[in-house]
Amino acid sequence: MFGSKTVEKFREIETPFYYYDLALLRQTLDIYTKELKKHNYHAHYALKANANSKILSIVKSYGLGADCVSGNEVKLALNSGFDPSMVVYAGVGKSDKEIKIALEGDIFSFNCESIPEIQIIDQLAGSMGKRASISLRINPDIDAHTHKYITTGRSQDKFGISHWMFDDVIQTLNSCSNIHFAGLHFHVGSQITDYNVFSMLSKRINEIVARFEEKGMRVENINLGGGLGIDYDDPDANPISDFASYFSIINKNLRQESYQQVHFEPGRAIIGQCGSLITRVLYVKLGKGRKFAILDAGMNDLIRPALYQAVHKIENLTSSGRLMRYDVVGPICESSDRFAKNLLIPETSRGDIFAIRSAGAYGQVMAMRYNQKDLAPEYYSE
Ligand SMILES: *Cc1c(COP(=O)(O)O)cnc(C)c1O
Repeated sequence: MFGSKTVEKFREIETPFYYYDLALLRQTLDIYTKELKKHNYHAHYALKANANSKILSIVKSYGLGADCVSGNEVKLALNSGFDPSMVVYAGVGKSDKEIKIALEGDIFSFNCESIPEIQIIDQLAGSMGKRASISLRINPDIDAHTHKYITTGRSQDKFGISHWMFDDVIQTLNSCSNIHFAGLHFHVGSQITDYNVFSMLSKRINEIVARFEEKGMRVENINLGGGLGIDYDDPDANPISDFASYFSIINKNLRQESYQQVHFEPGRAIIGQCGSLITRVLYVKLGKGRKFAILDAGMNDLIRPALYQAVHKIENLTSSGRLMRYDVVGPICESSDRFAKNLLIPETSRGDIFAIRSAGAYGQVMAMRYNQKDLAPEYYSE
């Protein structure tokens, strides 16, 4: 994936750093928006996947809106020039301050996750002389068949409003005078690779929309959230997710009336494959029955493996030696600071450059300064 010129450049730069392939980002967005428009669907990019300004400006140039999960993300989206009428805001714990930021910004929709939240938004909107547009984030009780820490749509998860609360929530909406009911929102998890989940979700949505409309609630917007997965095992074979199949499965299964708009909130599938974490081997250390390749990048730079046992493809960019097995670990004082166990890669030694692939989403945004490490900077292919 990286040409020899790029690798030579990598050698000259202090590691670790994030490297973003903007040509791939544009290609991904080209295909994504082409497939989206075929069905007349709308998309809001999930800022939490990666909020670098250069990336946001490219995403915005393709006409996507923004999906936010905090007041600061709402602020960032608006300051980055996203159209307020394309900004949505989800999250189970919106603070009063955050709600006010979004009300001030006149965003398209609060995706509300509980009855008390709706009541507070109604109160704050009233005190500001605003009318809040809200959608209900529904918990459709669907297992996304992904890692337990990134599944969000089962009844035991903290997210969304469950079916047994529908009557109460409708009563709440009808009693709130500063609220406009915009529609229903669903986001059942992340890194979903089983497309059956999306057909199941679509069918469940049909039932739930019908239930709300029977009770006199017109559902003008149906938002299916994000969650489409990427190929972490073989990013070069599958650099772009199969958007055509994804949308056509949903189109086949989701009922849509002429007055209804359908929305999506892609994050990982837009930016995941465009980023790599570039790092150097500091030491090769012998352990009992194993060798450790110790990198200068750690869980402070990329926490996904430590946080939810994620596996990223790791490449040795500067050795073509015989294949050997290594535990690939970082410098942080935690045993979970490990990127791979028993990985087969060309024999390595101090100074080799490694690429940890598919790190564009939930990589740099989750970086932290544990052990007082510096934050890794970012470089772009252009
Ligand atoms: C995280 C998140 C997304 C994006 O999910 P991906 O798996 O990155 O596509 C979309 N919507 C909401 C509400 C989210 O929390």
